[in-house]
Amino acid sequence: MLEASHHYFNEAADALDLSDQIREILLTPRRVLKVEVVTEDDEGKLLHFTGFRTQHTDVRGPYKGGLRYHPHMDEDHATALANLMTWKTAIVGVPFGGAKGGINCDPRQMSRQELDRVTRAFVKGMSGMLGPTLDIPAPDVNTNAEVMGWIMDEYSQSNGFSPGVVTGKPVDLFGSLGRDEATGRGVMYAMREALKDQGKSIAEVTVAMQGFGNVGTHAARLIAELGGKIIAVADHLGAVENQEGLDVPALIAWTAEHGTVNGFPGGAPFEGADVITWPADVLIPAALEEAITGDNAGDVRASLIVEGANGPTTPRADEILRDRGVLTVPDILANAGGVTVSYFEWAQNIQQFRWELDRVNDELEKVIVRAYADVRTVAKEKSLDMRTAAFVLAIQRVGRAAKARWPIRETVRL
Ligand code: NAD
Repeated sequence: MLEASHHYFNEAADALDLSDQIREILLTPRRVLKVEVVTEDDEGKLLHFTGFRTQHTDVRGPYKGGLRYHPHMDEDHATALANLMTWKTAIVGVPFGGAKGGINCDPRQMSRQELDRVTRAFVKGMSGMLGPTLDIPAPDVNTNAEVMGWIMDEYSQSNGFSPGVVTGKPVDLFGSLGRDEATGRGVMYAMREALKDQGKSIAEVTVAMQGFGNVGTHAARLIAELGGKIIAVADHLGAVENQEGLDVPALIAWTAEHGTVNGFPGGAPFEGADVITWPADVLIPAALEEAITGDNAGDVRASLIVEGANGPTTPRADEILRDRGVLTVPDILANAGGVTVSYFEWAQNIQQFRWELDRVNDELEKVIVRAYADVRTVAKEKSLDMRTAAFVLAIQRVGRAAKARWPIRETVRL
């Protein structure tokens, strides 16, 4: 995954004619932490995992990025995803840098109490690294508001009441209204803007979606509310399709009860891997990385891909899709709604003030619409695809901030 994020960075760095030295400075993380997470399970036996946190850059503000609990979590993922966070926060113009981390555990095999203990051991292991002006985690795959609440509690025990140390908290613990659905809502706005470029509206299109967790469920619900038809959905345990459009609220209720879309009576099952090549106008990958590869990109039927997930498209797939004229709204733009409302949450925590939900959603819409327009302007001016243009814009913003903070003498085109 790191290779892919470096590849996309380098394509943009080529367009900017950056020197090798500047590339290295912009790509290298400032700090990478690996921590042993040791605690006990509910029977008193040892639980032992490894936690990771990569702090990529803080030139534009405190490190910011999610925590992922997944058996495949490793340093490579943390660093690649931290990189993406740096470019993402720059594209939406929020005053943060980039970070990412997580634990190589499987929360589905753990009790709530075990998860709480593992989370607290991880926070202790990151002692000195976190803080409202240092590094502010948020939810990612298999972490949620409850886990963020535990992090806030653990940190506050030694640092005083500090809601601003983490975002995506429960609303009762100074989380922001609208944060839970923010990434999915941002995906919907990004999709709406891209469809405008294609002369279409959400009400006219069909959508296939991979992943039906935080990002997928909210994006699907909001798209369906605007008249879009969600015709195929796959998760890690199954897949369901209905050419007339799935009843999204019913599918969300089913998934909440059964932990999967599998078996949903309002549609027919199909082989989950086929969701990527499903005949739909729009494809939304909202699961994990490397879903669209050199093997299946040639068979993608959608004319628009909106990347809800981080890193869902490999460089080879990206090349094939570009050649085929498929429009891709890249992850660092399409799924930036989450970090945008995380910024609103952090700002509310610092001001000790709560925004109404309408304000959160209105401001989010403005940010995503502006970011989309900014990226499209760069794409048109430099004749680039949207992904490379997004990286160009982000590198320019981060690079200019770095130049303003550090005595970089080299004349670089930032
Ligand atoms: P989640 O844990 O809530 O949901 C993940 C979903 O992906 C689940 O439905 C799971 O079944 C599905 N999935 C996993 N492996 C799959 C497979 N092989 N095939 C099909 N489906 C599979 O996670 P989430 O928070 O919705 O995150 C999803 C993606 O969005 C990740 O790439 C994450 O980094 C990215 N993202 C999340 C946020 C956020 O605010 N949560 C913000 C930005 C980006």
